[in-house]
Amino acid sequence: MTRARIVLLNAALGPLDYRVPEGMAVEPGSIVVAPLGPRQLVGVAWEPERLPSEEIEEQRLRPLVQAFDAPPLPEPLRRLIEWTADYYLAPLASVLRMTLPSTSALQGGRSVTEYRATGAEPERMTPQRAQALERIAGRQGLVSELATAASVSDAVIRGLVKSGAVEAIEVSLDLPYPQADPDHNLPMLEAAQADAAEALADAVRASDFAPFLLDGVTGSGKTEVYFEAIAEALRQRRQCLVLLPEIALTEPFLKRFHARFGVEPVVWHSGLRQSQRRRAWRAIALGQAQVVVGARSALFLPYARLGLIVVDEAHETSFKQEEGVHYHARDVAVMRAKLEAIPVILASATPAIETRQQVAQGNYRELKLPARFGGAELPEIAAINLVQDPPPRGRWLAPRLVEALQANLDAGEQSLLFLNRRGYAPLTLCRRCGHRFQCPNCTAWMVEHRFTRRLACHHCGHVAPVPEECPECHEEESLVPVGPGVERIADEVAALWPEARTAVVTSDTMWSPAKAAEFVARMEAPHDDAHAIDIVIGTQLVTKGYHFPNLTLVGVVDADLGLSGGDLRAAERTFQQISQASGRAGRGEKPGRVLIQSHDPDAPVIDALVRGDTEGFYAAETQARHEAAMPPFGRLTAIVVSSEKEADAKVAAHRIAKAAPRIDDLIVLGPAPAPLAMLRGRHRLRLLLHAPRSLPLQEIVRDWLSDLETPRGVRVIVDVDPYSFL
Ligand code: ADP
Ligand code: ZN
Repeated sequence: MTRARIVLLNAALGPLDYRVPEGMAVEPGSIVVAPLGPRQLVGVAWEPERLPSEEIEEQRLRPLVQAFDAPPLPEPLRRLIEWTADYYLAPLASVLRMTLPSTSALQGGRSVTEYRATGAEPERMTPQRAQALERIAGRQGLVSELATAASVSDAVIRGLVKSGAVEAIEVSLDLPYPQADPDHNLPMLEAAQADAAEALADAVRASDFAPFLLDGVTGSGKTEVYFEAIAEALRQRRQCLVLLPEIALTEPFLKRFHARFGVEPVVWHSGLRQSQRRRAWRAIALGQAQVVVGARSALFLPYARLGLIVVDEAHETSFKQEEGVHYHARDVAVMRAKLEAIPVILASATPAIETRQQVAQGNYRELKLPARFGGAELPEIAAINLVQDPPPRGRWLAPRLVEALQANLDAGEQSLLFLNRRGYAPLTLCRRCGHRFQCPNCTAWMVEHRFTRRLACHHCGHVAPVPEECPECHEEESLVPVGPGVERIADEVAALWPEARTAVVTSDTMWSPAKAAEFVARMEAPHDDAHAIDIVIGTQLVTKGYHFPNLTLVGVVDADLGLSGGDLRAAERTFQQISQASGRAGRGEKPGRVLIQSHDPDAPVIDALVRGDTEGFYAAETQARHEAAMPPFGRLTAIVVSSEKEADAKVAAHRIAKAAPRIDDLIVLGPAPAPLAMLRGRHRLRLLLHAPRSLPLQEIVRDWLSDLETPRGVRVIVDVDPYSFL
């Protein structure tokens, strides 16, 4: 083609046409550099018939600057980008950016020049040259590295290069990854595992779209089973993508993967260095990276030969992205599998109602693992009624939980106390005047963190030192913490058992894969090791994926926490979190026990957990959603309007509401101040749209908002299928 339609990486621009200079090869998917005014921008060539644009005469087109030496984005990925932009009402460029996270990766074949001795003698030999040649024999490296190794100056090495005794070698920065062996360490699968693994391997061989729900209780060997699907994809020379909800979970995953396949998979997450990112991206795009494990951002990478997608812990809400393009990685993963014509496995012990509904409708195939591996029993679960059996004043652990912890310590077994609240106390106030510490930027209390001696806002990250006196009444030492966070529970544990070895695990303490590895090593250390752990106090971060055979007691400190707030998924999420936390208990030979503290143990969700009535709970929840026409039976979309000026946000939100189309069955709620009425210094109002599935909600919203001008400083965010109602 002599002209090309280019989507530039700039969300404000539509597609633009350019001239393809002679000698430059450009096809749909090609990644190019195009001029825009005085600037140059990266963009991707697209099929012109799929993206209408203003027709410009041939002569007026500007020429493209460069086409990168990288494979064009494959067609199924281009279709996925279009679908995502369309479904989540996002600019194409914003979605495209997620596939091209590193411009350095686009520069083909980058290398460094290294040097090594040729074996030839230089014409003129000096004592220094002789010393250098002797010491660098068999070595290869940069000039400076060889000079250091030989204790000579760089100039000596350079002289040897000139004389031909040392030669230059181009070394690619992008070393290929070692190859996994599907038969490295084959497991002995139990019958139910083998059946599930076979169904998955068949689907990989068939290489057609096939969505699966791998529904197995905690500890049933879901990972072991989907590893067999990965093995099959490796045999077929296809790539695999495994999505995990938290990067902290990659660490144990890497170990297990290594044990099964002999090498580590390729890791992708936001914490990679640029060189790692570049290496991974190129290996993915060239088809050399066999198995990629990552957070949701790995989903949009340009796999050359994708053969399988796994979404592990698929019920996790962290797969929903809440900034930039508001997409749900689980749902986009299924769409990608469809467009790539490959199987996708959603693995979970507590599948989301949305996913269960897909099974019920016959869209997804369900594979069940009903029992724990190796005959391990599911833990026994009991509730502690905090009204009848409360902890002493100022404490948070009820006597029965304290007794159980004591027994576990005596037995040399590990315990987990689960409380989904970081920091020391969620609220700090002045005992004298009642002053409460609020974030200056958000509708939120400042949370005290004793480890760092700070008050922190968990929404915007604002931090302030804990003051000596009340800023309002100036009384000294009058500040009191209200309510518990994990740090406060750790204090209580330390007061009860000064000799117990504890660890607090939250995103504050476990913020990198290395920290996660350290925690795992401590949990696995022998009981008499100085680094061993007796009691873990943690947030939801410790409740997933981990397998610690000596952990036999789980205490849920506050089961009521997640139930307040009126979120449509509150009960479901509580059920999932407590099930996952319980799932850490008794995974080895010793049986496990779970104690759930609640002020209302008769609440359906607690009652179902205690009775082990998963199906009953889900049936009631599903029924309630059905009756209210809530997702997945009806659809929701949120429109959040924000501005630094409250009046501007209000005016804009009301203008949007007034322009709402009158359509039967479309209910527009609001605008009302969002529960987080202020966030990062912006005032926020929400509109919530509720519609039956039959309405083309995206089209409606697109038409509705396209005619409206947003005043300066006002931001309008559309959140399709929202998970956060803050
Ligand atoms: P899940 O992901 O369902 O919670 P895992 O895959 O973590 O379960 O399995 C729980 C434990 O049982 C792990 O330590 C795993 O290695 C072990 N396991 C499961 N199946 C097998 C098997 N067939 N052979 C050996 N070990 C297994
Ligand atoms: Zn804040």
